[in-house]
Amino acid sequence: MIKSLLVANRGEIACRIFRTARRLGIRTVAVFSDADALARHTRVADEALHIGPAAARESYLDMGRILEAARLSGAEAIHPGYGFLSENARFAQACTDAGVKFVGPPAAAIAALGSKIVAKTRMCAAGVPVLPGYAGSEQDLGHLERAARAAGLPLIIKPASGGGGKGMQIVRQESELAAALGAARRLAESAFGDGALLLERYLPAPRHVEVQVFADTQGNFVHLGDRDCSTQRRHQKLIEEAPAPALPEEVRARLRAAALVVAREIGYVSAGTVEFLFDGRECYFMEMNTRLQVEHTVTEAVTGVDLVEWQLRIASGEPLPLSQEEVRLQGHAIEARVCAEDPEHGFLPSAGRLALLEWPEMESVRVDAGFASGDTVPDCYDSLLGKVIAWAPGREQAAARLAAALTRTYCAGVRTNERWLARILRSPRFLEVRHDISLLEKSAAEFAGPSAAAPEVLILAALAADMSARAAHGSRPVTPWELTDGFTPNLPAQVGYRFAWAGRRHTVELEYADGQAAAGTLDARTRLAVADVTLTTGTIAARLGERRWHARCRLEGTHVYLWCGTDQYELLLDDPRTQEFAASAATGGLTTPLPGVVVSVAVAVGQKVAAGEVLMVIEAMKMEHTISAPYAGTVGTIHFARGDRVPEASELLELARAKA
Ligand code: ADP
Repeated sequence: MIKSLLVANRGEIACRIFRTARRLGIRTVAVFSDADALARHTRVADEALHIGPAAARESYLDMGRILEAARLSGAEAIHPGYGFLSENARFAQACTDAGVKFVGPPAAAIAALGSKIVAKTRMCAAGVPVLPGYAGSEQDLGHLERAARAAGLPLIIKPASGGGGKGMQIVRQESELAAALGAARRLAESAFGDGALLLERYLPAPRHVEVQVFADTQGNFVHLGDRDCSTQRRHQKLIEEAPAPALPEEVRARLRAAALVVAREIGYVSAGTVEFLFDGRECYFMEMNTRLQVEHTVTEAVTGVDLVEWQLRIASGEPLPLSQEEVRLQGHAIEARVCAEDPEHGFLPSAGRLALLEWPEMESVRVDAGFASGDTVPDCYDSLLGKVIAWAPGREQAAARLAAALTRTYCAGVRTNERWLARILRSPRFLEVRHDISLLEKSAAEFAGPSAAAPEVLILAALAADMSARAAHGSRPVTPWELTDGFTPNLPAQVGYRFAWAGRRHTVELEYADGQAAAGTLDARTRLAVADVTLTTGTIAARLGERRWHARCRLEGTHVYLWCGTDQYELLLDDPRTQEFAASAATGGLTTPLPGVVVSVAVAVGQKVAAGEVLMVIEAMKMEHTISAPYAGTVGTIHFARGDRVPEASELLELARAKA
């Protein structure tokens, strides 16, 4: 067995690989960029080496620096994780050339499968079902257009060297074809350095199913069952499960056999995933991923196998620990990817300091996290904070358990998607397996958070704010805008809170008697008797009217977070000292909703713009966000230039409103 391992990655996957390595007595080495100097993966490793600036291309994607770190630390092997250099044949080769073991397949296998065109052509020849289309070497745009017409519409155009769902274009009408091919070519060239395109019949509502395969250097192959990853947004997986549900047994058998054909055909070694689309009748080969997948955890939960351990054993030259007959599948497991993004605002990536990130602790629930309370989420990498995985004997129970676990995940300071994912898991569509890869394109709004709150919830939020403030500042509230009792200034008889929630303003008046909260009035209308209020370890509880309510809560500056039942409420307090509320309302769309880098400035000082006109483009977390004019006006001072880094909530430019 290898003695020391460098993980050329970050976040949850680096932490997860270190866990297994530690268990096997392997010395662990982390690498980190400037943005990750204090990251969790650097703290859990035995050693951590700096490899460069925040930009991935100069750190996590820089082969030279990573190999140098391996040399300096004396690491015997490198595990690439997923993403970054994990499917880079040149990197696998460079490791071998430097005398370091690459924990993954041989460079030749990565190269063979790196091109979707080559992979698809070989699989088709080996008798594996593929979707019709064009996967040829003649790549002239005119030729592709003719091939597309011959294949028929709708079609999907994919960059041959692409990954992560990037750059794919769907063509439904002939009139869109030429433009789509042109755009796909440009994107493929700029993002993947290879303009080659693959055309394939587009299935409107398939499911994504895949098979986990494993091979050793002695020529043994096994599969560890199948998974379904149909809950996707923009072709990115969000919820994954094992085994794939509602799959006819003969299809499942064919799928698994085809996956092994693919692995053998390529001379594969280590962990790999063969991906298929299932149209309700047949499974079609899509591609093979030559690395550990994000969703490997659900396979681990149903097989009891530690996939990273198998990878390390195989890299050390050992044979596969189990034969196909010895692989046993038990129960059902579902994973949800908790990401720093805001489902209520177009899934804008969210970055910054995690004032709170508390993961669930429940039986049969596993958490693979890369972040915890107090950590900072950088804006330059992907948004995955961690994964929550639930196992149960059956699928319905696993879904319920996972939804409950996600509801017991508490995050403040950064926007996250766990409650949105829990709503999907509880939906009849998901539970009855009536979902497919288009679910979230069509029905994202169905899973939106609450737009109305019970008066009790808002009164509870005010009580939480008031109690937290009293606890933090003796008995004096921190944000009183109205104190009406002149006799006992430390214990005012009435305190008012004004806040914004879900685009509306509310007021809550709390009345105290003998130092105890006695009543709460929402918006001068709904008055409820209050009794027995307690605030302990971040939980507020109170009797409101006849019912006892409790909720997790947290006060962060002017934000009150309340987690009540399955929902999360984030209230913005109107704090007269900071005027934050007023400022953000007054500047409208001109402040940046998230930290990032200015990609372009579309206007100049003194320019007149119409409402809706693009002012600036900000890139954050690998996505571009357009800042457009909220009203017609004239551009005043521009505070940032192209290439500048902007902190959250910064004013970008001044825009004098045009006179009506
Ligand atoms: P990438 O390597 O970029 O991830 P894939 O070929 O694996 O690209 O496809 C990613 C996703 O795109 C799939 O999970 C599926 O949602 C969608 N997709 C790919 N091919 C098709 C197709 N022929 N019809 C419909 N959807 C497709």
